[in-house]
Amino acid sequence: MLTGSYSSLLVLLSLLVAILAAYTALDLAGRITTAQGRAAHWWLAGGACAMGIGIWSMHFIGMLAFRLPIELGYDPHITLLSLLIAIASSALALWLVSRQTLPWSRLVGGALLMGAGVSAMHYTGMAAMRMLPGIVYRPVLFTLSVIIAVVASGAALWLAFRLRHHGAGVRLFRAAAAVLMGIAIVGMHYTGMAAAEFPLGSVCGAVRDGFSTGWLALFIISVTFAVLAIALIVSVLDLRLELRTAVLASSLNEANQELQYLALHDNLTRLPNRVLLGDRLDQAIQRARRERGLFALMFMDLDGFKAVNDAYGHRIGDLLLVAIAQRITAAVRAQDTLARVGGDEMVLLSSVGDPSDVATMAEKLTALIREPVSVEGHELRVSVSIGIALYPGDGTVPDELLSNADAAMYHAKGQGRDSYRFFEASMNANMHNQLQLVQDLRQAQVRGELVLHYQPKFRAPAGPMTGVEALLRWQHPERGLIPPNDFIPLAEKTGLILPIGAWVLDEACRQMRSWRDAGQAPRSIAVNLSALQFSHTSLIQTVRETLDRHGLEAACLTLEVTESTAMRDADASLSILQILHDMGVHISIDDFGTGYSSLLYLKRLPASELKIDRGFVRDLARDTEDAAIVAAIVALGQTLDLKIVAEGVETADQQTFLTQLGCDALQGYLLGKPMTAERLAQLLAAGAVPSEVK
Ligand code: C2E
Ligand code: CA
Ligand code: CA
Repeated sequence: MLTGSYSSLLVLLSLLVAILAAYTALDLAGRITTAQGRAAHWWLAGGACAMGIGIWSMHFIGMLAFRLPIELGYDPHITLLSLLIAIASSALALWLVSRQTLPWSRLVGGALLMGAGVSAMHYTGMAAMRMLPGIVYRPVLFTLSVIIAVVASGAALWLAFRLRHHGAGVRLFRAAAAVLMGIAIVGMHYTGMAAAEFPLGSVCGAVRDGFSTGWLALFIISVTFAVLAIALIVSVLDLRLELRTAVLASSLNEANQELQYLALHDNLTRLPNRVLLGDRLDQAIQRARRERGLFALMFMDLDGFKAVNDAYGHRIGDLLLVAIAQRITAAVRAQDTLARVGGDEMVLLSSVGDPSDVATMAEKLTALIREPVSVEGHELRVSVSIGIALYPGDGTVPDELLSNADAAMYHAKGQGRDSYRFFEASMNANMHNQLQLVQDLRQAQVRGELVLHYQPKFRAPAGPMTGVEALLRWQHPERGLIPPNDFIPLAEKTGLILPIGAWVLDEACRQMRSWRDAGQAPRSIAVNLSALQFSHTSLIQTVRETLDRHGLEAACLTLEVTESTAMRDADASLSILQILHDMGVHISIDDFGTGYSSLLYLKRLPASELKIDRGFVRDLARDTEDAAIVAAIVALGQTLDLKIVAEGVETADQQTFLTQLGCDALQGYLLGKPMTAERLAQLLAAGAVPSEVK
């Protein structure tokens, strides 16, 4: 037998190459797993080449490290074949570990195939020496080398599969695994070498026409390192790119989620908005239909919220809303949906077992909201009116349930607030009625269905007449004469009060002009203003233009503003009233005693008249408390130099008492009901109501 020896430098180098090849293989397995589509195929092809070249060159350098006393060479074709086998087994291995799963059966099959491949590569490479006579292999060591190849392949596949995802510490694990795998590959190679016996007198058939060993080792080592290094660098760069793309994609995703959140939630309270509520309502209906279940829709509207906004500003109002939203959220179950659907309107969607549970819940909510809220040191109090619609009894589609709950809420409000009402079919009729009324009201002005009646005011106790108040009526073609309380709230809600109010002012002035032209006219005419008109900047100009149009002096016009309207935005009101006053228009504070005006503010108001609310006059004779209030208002008016008018005077007793208390003027059915312009002209002409002259 020829005895072989090894160049230890080359052996060491072969081990290094093996480790590097293993590391590259692990890294590329990771790339193939995360890459997508076509890129994955390229990574597989490139990875198989790099890894194949790596394993093969480890083996080839190992061969070059081996020396026999005879000269050695390698057949290029067979050598190339061994390289191809290495690449093919690498491709198989990479493909196996880049699957979603790696079941045991596939791991074992893969290990067998790959082990066979590696062995085939090794022994094909040996055959490239074309020894004559042939190499004799010791069966035990030969078998051992194949077993090592299979076991090392199995371990490599398993490790590569486990370590294919990026994560903390994965690089370190990969490096350790690469060292182990490198040692296994090298172990297989040198076991295989040890199995080979070269009979004495063997010659190497590949010496003459094959490569010679000297430069070949260097060349192959450099090419291999280059290939592996390039593969690693490209892999790292690509990974960075991929990670950056992933970061971008995830921030884009976050932005999208935020956008979606904003689109479905209310900005202020972070409660679901109308859109999301609609969605949840759809789901609730589907679920209830499937399970034959029941749920309640509670429409909640805060009472007195506007007053807080007016008095303390929107910022405090917003904080109050947030606090109330939190309070309700804490009180309802997690599966209930509380949504904000308008300024101070919220809707609670809640599945229930029994309608009586809903009543309990509504009671709980009203009690909860009635409790004062402390916002930045202010103790604020609001209450809630709740309208309840039940599925399926009160509706089977979202819109129907919502509008029915809304209708019920209006009834709760109408009933004196701070209460709840279950929906009843009659409410709906009311609702439709109202909608129809709004449509008719839009037409009313154009069709000339609006008329003014005039109610005289008298100097106490019985005249003469000091002026008239214009009161609006609607001559509806089907419903007859509609009193203002039945449609002015609607007109205010829809904004129709603006054109209607302008019309009232114009019509009253036109009438005044026409009475004057006829030679008989009251001394002044009063027009009622609603809050919305009052907050509109065009008011002053409208008043000025209307007076000019009819050639009237400002002093014959009185504008009646209710106490609560005048107090709403005190400073703004003050400046508007001041301008009107400076123009010469008289200002009258209507329904006085029902609001909460501060004395200080009242003192600065440029008003010339206070009208005591009808409520104090009604039970005057019997109720001493009302009498005391009227007396106080009269005293206040005298101090502030305001004319005091009592309205709603229906009896002679009231007339006498109010006169005794010191009221300057009286208005009421006793002395004169509201009447048409013609009727008033007739009375004036007949001298039945003596008018005060200047
Ligand atoms: P108001 O300004 O307090 O008007 C007085 C109301 O009391 C009138 O009701 C009048 O008919 C009624 N009244 C007068 N004397 C008596 C009486 O002795 N007993 C009783 N029980 N009632 C009496 P009307 O005309 O139904 O008007 C109701 C409210 O509608 C008015 O209250 C006013 O706030 C509003 N309104 C009327 N016309 C207009 C208008 O042109 N514009 C605006 N914005 N509001 C108007
Ligand atoms: Ca009035
Ligand atoms: Ca009044």
